[in-house]
Amino acid sequence: MSAHPLYPHLFSPLDLGFTTLKNRSLMGSMHTGLEERKDGLRALAAYFAARARGGAGLMVTGGIAPSRQGWLAPFGAKLATRSEAAKHRNVTEAVHAEDGKICLQILHAGRYGMHPFLVAPSPLRAPISPFRPWEMSQRLIRATINDFATSAALARESGYDGVEIMGSEGYLINQFIAPRTNKRTDEWGGSFENRIRFPIEIMQKVREKAGADFIVIFRVSMLDLVEEGSTWEEVEQLALALEGAGATMLNTGIGWHEARVPTIATLVPRGAFAWVTKRLMGKLRIPLITTNRINTPEKAEELLRDGFANMVSMARPFLADPDFMQKAFEQRADEINTCIACNQACLDHVFKKKDASCLVNPRACQEILLIASRQRTTNSEQPTAKNQQRKIAVVGAGPAGLSAATELAALGHEVHLFEASGEIGGQFNMAKLIPGKEEFYETLRYFGKMIEKHGVKLHLNTRVDARFLQNEEFEEVVVATGVSPRTPNIEGIEHPKVLSYIDVLLHQKPVGKTVAIIGAGGIGFDVATFLTADSHVSEQPTNNPVRTDIRPGGQQLTTYWHEWGIDPAYAHRGGITQPQPEHSPRQVWLLQRSKGKIGARLGKTTGWAHRLTLKSRGVQMWPEVNYLKIDDAGLHITVKGAPQILDVENVVICAGQNPLRDLYEPLVQAGIKVHLIGGAKEAAELDAKRAIEEGWNIATSHR
Ligand code: FAD
Ligand code: NAP
Ligand code: SF4
Repeated sequence: MSAHPLYPHLFSPLDLGFTTLKNRSLMGSMHTGLEERKDGLRALAAYFAARARGGAGLMVTGGIAPSRQGWLAPFGAKLATRSEAAKHRNVTEAVHAEDGKICLQILHAGRYGMHPFLVAPSPLRAPISPFRPWEMSQRLIRATINDFATSAALARESGYDGVEIMGSEGYLINQFIAPRTNKRTDEWGGSFENRIRFPIEIMQKVREKAGADFIVIFRVSMLDLVEEGSTWEEVEQLALALEGAGATMLNTGIGWHEARVPTIATLVPRGAFAWVTKRLMGKLRIPLITTNRINTPEKAEELLRDGFANMVSMARPFLADPDFMQKAFEQRADEINTCIACNQACLDHVFKKKDASCLVNPRACQEILLIASRQRTTNSEQPTAKNQQRKIAVVGAGPAGLSAATELAALGHEVHLFEASGEIGGQFNMAKLIPGKEEFYETLRYFGKMIEKHGVKLHLNTRVDARFLQNEEFEEVVVATGVSPRTPNIEGIEHPKVLSYIDVLLHQKPVGKTVAIIGAGGIGFDVATFLTADSHVSEQPTNNPVRTDIRPGGQQLTTYWHEWGIDPAYAHRGGITQPQPEHSPRQVWLLQRSKGKIGARLGKTTGWAHRLTLKSRGVQMWPEVNYLKIDDAGLHITVKGAPQILDVENVVICAGQNPLRDLYEPLVQAGIKVHLIGGAKEAAELDAKRAIEEGWNIATSHR
């Protein structure tokens, strides 16, 4: 077969001896929440089948415990019995029917288990867990090794092509390997040989029970990012020993969950950890898989071409777009709905015990419902019949309007999208300017392409009113006009030193060296990040409203390493060193009226990193602030009742937003069918996840 013209490395098959993978992409393990749901395996079957159809080379399920003690949470997914194995047939048969391959991940949570039966090599509570683990007896250690092997054999029985043994991220196996968590003095602790006895015996036993012609990926923690983690020499020796014990491939694990280093958030540069895998390249005979923040076929190809790994793992990118590989293969990469690494609908949902989905793709994990709705309506895969096509106006090209317009047009309706400004994107045109949020450009590139592809009639620089929409005889109108910033009622709010976040971000008005920010929600945090960054170089927006070739610069790798104390020289255990925060060009105060932690409502899996970033740049974050007035002297406030004047050059208002929906009532009065979505519907608690989903729901109701 001739090489792919754009991605020859990504699309070259990988021969594992007993089986061949069709390309070099691995859909990495992600817990979706479906694993624990009644009938969840049927939902997972539809979910994985969609990704197999979309061309993923190999997929790995979310973590499944080999025993009750290994649960992540009470009644978590487990594979220890024949009856549990039987249910997995749904998944494996659906994947094989689509010519895909799938491995089951065996994960024992150890001290990360959120339940009272948790066990670990030593009885040390994890900093992120309320529970103290029980120390494992030698007998339990032996039984646990057997549990891994039994799980692997059952996985084979239920049709899986292999398993991945989860040996990283600070879970049980990792807890045995690192001196941080293994304080044992018996044959399972102390020396390095003793600490790696557990993973090596698991690997040997799994191979013995599952057979030679079965894929066994071992996920090795190649960079712990915690004190008393492994040294590089230990990582290398462990990798060699695992190869000797029968591993088919090694996957890369980066950072324990308790590490205070963001490793997959959007602020992490693309491919920021591929260098770790590269250190092992050439040392082993088996293939190595690299991972973390690889979200485009270009990045994947570059890493494979430049010898960073033999295979590339992407997890969230397949949530965002199940057809990622197929689109890349057909040279339609500009149609890929790119994962922006926000974690808002995937990881944050799982942490809140909600099913995972995706901010840019609300269909993710809903595949089974889509199949059911298609079965109910015979023609729904076909474009809407000519006589049912409607002339629909969508007003506002923010995330909500873009989602509604492109999905409605894909169904065959005649869609006119009106946007008052000169470019599509709404508030995303501000979000994308925040250092570390450059990925937001990709969502606009995607929607721009979908506008072209589905023939949405885009009218930029066109602010429309109800009369115009009536005169144009639209049958339906989607009002997606977004929000207007809230102006708080503070004496002196008209003072020239007062700016809105729109002045700062969109109009790029000059900002002084001392700044108070009123409001510490998502936008207040982003404005503080923007004002305190000095070495980020963000690409400026262009005038081309539907540009499809945007490749933002993003943060420099070295800046990211320095800021978070990652040591590519690996001089110390865990690969960490003293962080060297950025020097902020401004002194910033971030203020809120309410009590409690600043930024408490930021995402569960990313909020801590935003807080740490600002703290390291010297931002003063104050709760319980009452605003009195603004004048030449500065911002007059009380903090916990004590009066104070902040002598600042500027006050930036980030005090939330109000819905903008002047169009709605007149249209309803005129008898037009009107839909209200996104910020126009409800500004409180609005985010892009809700905006895009509401746009998508409009289209779903038009199927
Ligand atoms: P908007 O994005 O406000 O779009 C409304 C559009 O309607 C605008 O383009 C406007 O010009 C147009 N319009 C208004 N009236 C008319 C009219 N009469 N005729 C024609 N056009 C009209 N959300 C997240 O989920 N995650 C984040 O990380 C995140 N970061 C953010 C960072 C910043 C700095 C900002 C400002 C916002 C951020 N958001 C984030 C919020 C997110 O961008 C909004 O929730 C989302 O944009 C709301 O979408 P929308 O379509 O309802 O409205
Ligand atoms: P927000 O999250 O609701 O925060 C508004 C802030 O303003 C709060 O700190 C609030 O706290 C304060 N405030 C409200 N009314 C005020 C008043 N009258 N006077 C003074 N202060 C007032 O809204 P936002 O920051 O504007 O963000 C808008 C939406 O975009 C949010 O829903 C957010 O989720 C989303 N967003 C998300 C991200 C992300 O990273 N996920 C980033 C940016 C934006 P007090 O009332 O305590 O003062
Ligand atoms: Fe990626 Fe955000 Fe979707 Fe998660 S929710 S898959 S991080 S775009």
